[in-house]
Amino acid sequence: MKIYIKTIAFSLAIVISAVYAERGFPQQGPAQFPEGKWIDLTHDFSSDTVYWPTGEGFKLETVFQGTTDKGYYYAANKYTAEEHGGTHIDAPRHFAEGKQTLDEIPIESLTGSAVVIDVSKKAASDPDYQIGIEDFTEWEAVNGRIPDDSIVLLNTGYAKYWPDKVKYMGTDKKGQEAVKELHFPGLHPAAAKWLTENRDISAIGLDTPSIDYGQSQLFESHRVLFRENIPAFENVANLDRLPPKGAFVIALPMKIKGGSGGPLRIVALVPETN
Ligand SMILES: [Zn+2]
Repeated sequence: MKIYIKTIAFSLAIVISAVYAERGFPQQGPAQFPEGKWIDLTHDFSSDTVYWPTGEGFKLETVFQGTTDKGYYYAANKYTAEEHGGTHIDAPRHFAEGKQTLDEIPIESLTGSAVVIDVSKKAASDPDYQIGIEDFTEWEAVNGRIPDDSIVLLNTGYAKYWPDKVKYMGTDKKGQEAVKELHFPGLHPAAAKWLTENRDISAIGLDTPSIDYGQSQLFESHRVLFRENIPAFENVANLDRLPPKGAFVIALPMKIKGGSGGPLRIVALVPETN
């Protein structure tokens, strides 16, 4: 078993090194991660996990826990949840007929160098803040043009309220009526359009429940991005720990065949030079 795990770990290191090599990430030898710090951008899943007001949320039931009649310890649970809740990915199919389902999203869209746009100061006083074109052009004025194949991450600062639903998303009520009471920042549809028409990004993500802001009724940013097969990561954690550029993101969801989205484990490697 130990050898088996080692083999898997070694293979994974080779694959990830190959991804770095292809994307110009500093290479420090064969089958080796660059020196740096791994940051977990994932909230854990529990009964506290934030789901859309119309969702039932994450449930973990014990199937068995304890000593079996043969004398060994055994634990197993069963979980149920909506696709869209907690730290998760929206597959393009979520709002775009015929576009990629969860299992169809290529690994290349889910791994890559990140650019982090910090709008936390603007969003702090305005839960209805929508990240605009100027937020991207201001970032570019300092950091240069958003490179092709980037994963664009929007730091609104709202992750610090997790899992307090009232502060994080405006309401802790349940059901369709509560949807009207949602208030949290998101990406302005004009900026989504600007990104898809003028830049070549792999994926986008943010630290609120939805890529469209809480008061959105038509989910236009979802629709603009997804028709170009650009997936979105939602309820992402710890974006304040990433540099504006230079981190490498790996965002691998559960591979649900035909899924419109699903739970996501997203991590970032921040190289030592940052
Ligand atoms: Zn979603």
